[in-house]
Amino acid sequence: MSLRDYEFEMDFCSRCSHCKWIPLLFIKSHRYANVCPAIERFNFHAYSGSGRVIAAHSVHEGRSEITDELLDVIYRCQLDGACNVMCHLSNEILEPLQIIRELRTLAVERGMLLPEHTMIIDSMRKEDNVLGEKKADRGKWAEGLDVKDINSGEAEVFYHAGCRYSYNQDLRGIARTGISLLRGAGVDVGIAGGEEACCGGRAFDIGYRGEMEKYADDFANRLRSSGASTLVTSCSDCYSAFKHLYPMIGKKLDVEIVHITEYLDRLIKEGRIALCKEVPLRVTYHDPCHLGRLGEEYTPWSGEWKTVHGGVIVSDPPKPVHKGLGGVYDPPRDVLKAIPGLQLLEMERNREFSWCCGAGGGVLEAYEDFAAWTAMERIEEARSTGAEALVTACPWCERNFKDAVAANGHGITVYDVVELVQEAAG
Ligand code: SF4
Ligand code: SF4
Repeated sequence: MSLRDYEFEMDFCSRCSHCKWIPLLFIKSHRYANVCPAIERFNFHAYSGSGRVIAAHSVHEGRSEITDELLDVIYRCQLDGACNVMCHLSNEILEPLQIIRELRTLAVERGMLLPEHTMIIDSMRKEDNVLGEKKADRGKWAEGLDVKDINSGEAEVFYHAGCRYSYNQDLRGIARTGISLLRGAGVDVGIAGGEEACCGGRAFDIGYRGEMEKYADDFANRLRSSGASTLVTSCSDCYSAFKHLYPMIGKKLDVEIVHITEYLDRLIKEGRIALCKEVPLRVTYHDPCHLGRLGEEYTPWSGEWKTVHGGVIVSDPPKPVHKGLGGVYDPPRDVLKAIPGLQLLEMERNREFSWCCGAGGGVLEAYEDFAAWTAMERIEEARSTGAEALVTACPWCERNFKDAVAANGHGITVYDVVELVQEAAG
């Protein structure tokens, strides 16, 4: 794919600005009506989904160049997909998210790079992770677990930890707990440990498509030789890469892809995990963008746009719309509701209307202040529900929220769903 594939759509943007807001029918208050962190923070149309579509159109037609200023506009965006979903929910048919991705890929092709992102790619090329860590340390998170090594044997379930859970000392425990819960329920699970590599999703997001393709091929081979029929991950970013991005580049994986919260929900409902211990806590759940909107299975489309009846524009065959409704929203909530004593409160912006944590799309690495501001917006919204804790299901969200809470001293605790299950399971 390239910007050429979106020529019609770039022409078609009506500048309606629906991509900036939750649709009118679903707005609960003025304070939490906005959905795009970039336009809210920088308050200039160029920073919205539509603004970037206009910029992409201009670059594609040779009317403007990718300058340092434009690079700043292109990358001050979490790629959280809210603009895409709001555009589709408003009965428009554009793909602002895809167009931003194509613009980033073009920037990389033209050698316009952010140094922070070059460091990520260097780390991937040398050490197979996005965090600048040593490949040799990748399997340390699982030390002492005595879990099956998928590189030398087969297992029914292939568990992928992802870069963050593998390397962050204070998050590793969540991956370990996930494995213990699965094994405690009798699941035949294996890991790649030190041989595990990045899913490649972050490379794709910052414009390095070739890197992502390499990782997708490598992952498909490893998965095939493991004999696993189910792939489970605790990382929402990896989940979205497997479920959404791989099919987008024509590399759909041929197994069931399940997030740990979906798997735990299944095991709890089957009675294989018993939640007996009270956890008396008022919590609110943050939908990670990559598990919600971007966790929806991607359906590729190739066809053409036609004008019929003297002016009505239609896609032939009909183009699938991605309204974000097929994301993973209920399983994590059902798990939390199954915990005795726990009270779940909802934020105004939830499910497909969720506000991003701030960490995605290379923003955490290149624009730390913007990532922190976006997280604080969400933490304020979480506190407005009366919750004592903010629960999520993604290490990138957890990292950004925890760091924002630590820096600003906001009185809310950040948990992963898995940690609360462990507490209730006793
Ligand atoms: S991207 Fe979609 S929602 Fe945004 S201004 Fe264009 S048509 Fe409207
Ligand atoms: S992906 Fe998110 S931050 Fe970027 S333009 Fe769309 S809504 Fe705004």
